[in-house]
Amino acid sequence: NTTLTPVTTLPWAAEPLPWTGPGRPATRPLDVLGVPGQINLDYAATAPCASVAADAVTELLPWYASVHRGAGQLSRRCTLAYERAREEVADFLGARADDHVIFTRNTTDALNLLAHALPAASTVVTFASEHHANLLPWPSAAVRLPVPASPGAAVRALDAALRELRRGTDPGRPVLVAVTGAGNVTGERWPVAALARVAHRHGARIALDAAQLAPHAPVDIAALGVDYVAVSGHKLYAPFGTGVLVGRGDWLDAAPPYLSGGGASAYVGPATHQVRWATGPARHEAGTPNLLGAVALGAVCAALGAADRAALHDDEQALLARLRAGLAALPGVEELRLFDAAEPRVGIVSFVVAGRESATVAAELATAHGIGVRDGLFCAHPLTRRLIAEAAARRGWRNPPATALRASIGLGSTVEHVDRLLTALAGR
Ligand code: PLP
Repeated sequence: NTTLTPVTTLPWAAEPLPWTGPGRPATRPLDVLGVPGQINLDYAATAPCASVAADAVTELLPWYASVHRGAGQLSRRCTLAYERAREEVADFLGARADDHVIFTRNTTDALNLLAHALPAASTVVTFASEHHANLLPWPSAAVRLPVPASPGAAVRALDAALRELRRGTDPGRPVLVAVTGAGNVTGERWPVAALARVAHRHGARIALDAAQLAPHAPVDIAALGVDYVAVSGHKLYAPFGTGVLVGRGDWLDAAPPYLSGGGASAYVGPATHQVRWATGPARHEAGTPNLLGAVALGAVCAALGAADRAALHDDEQALLARLRAGLAALPGVEELRLFDAAEPRVGIVSFVVAGRESATVAAELATAHGIGVRDGLFCAHPLTRRLIAEAAARRGWRNPPATALRASIGLGSTVEHVDRLLTALAGR
């Protein structure tokens, strides 16, 4: 159990697994679990669990045994299931053949792992609008670009910043750009492919925080031209506790293990310094892995990958348009936005209500209407404070609320859910 044997070379790899079969993803609908009477409009925080994820876990439970550590049939099948999940995630995210696909706990963990693996003297460039998970893990010397006014301005600002950075530094010095694919406050989409082109033109690498993008739109690492991608399973209709970092292996294989322990070590001798660390995903996955989480996430990835994502996107955009138009029609409600209102976004809208604290509104929605939204600063404090102030200024409000409300949708959201929220906010 010291090194990972590729599953395809194992003699039992061809055995059909009882919980997978031809057509598993395509034949099961992409419905999600829920509780009657409760309307979940908080997908951006944690999406409901997809039936395919619940089924995958339920069907695996009788086979539950160790992963990468046992010789028994149960254990071998669990190892196969874990590695198959890795392949399903890799396919879903369009990973290149030589990318590492490392299971983590969530996006925060994945980005911390990447920060840990940065070569010495790296510089990281981010925008000040990022989620804290993509702001705080980076070294304190990271360059934080000001919040841009448009996607085009973001591309130009990155170009200028990297040109400046390169002018002052050794061209061989590693630079990593870390950006989001879709913001968690406004849902606005960022011009990822254009940012990746700019980064590469200046010899930098780029990491994509796809926590909010991947649940709503295809994320193809190779097509986007990004070097690393991080996602969270619990925002992708799988249970908590599983995320992924996918990307180039050289920095990851050169870095000390993110966690030290069994599984990450290829050879351990009697003296403390006698350790040879594994390479590949195993290097950063010490300890017994989260098999159930990985299998659930793999099942969702397979199902979503096989689904008609263009149709899902159109359905979601129609609901989002209804929600935004309904909010715009309510007196005293103002949407938060960074870019022009017409710029593309995923199913997320944050807003403020004149003269009302957001926590009070959110509590009323929950208790009187069974509607779950999020209130707060959404782990993007500098950005959300600024957007609240800008929204209040557009409307000429003198005392803006301290925090905002956020409604977010996805698979399982319906016209009725949106209309119930709008009706509740209208006080009817
Ligand atoms: N990045 C973005 C854009 C997010 O919206 C979130 C969570 O809200 C994260 C990162 C962190 O995700 P997690 O809490 O699953 O680590």
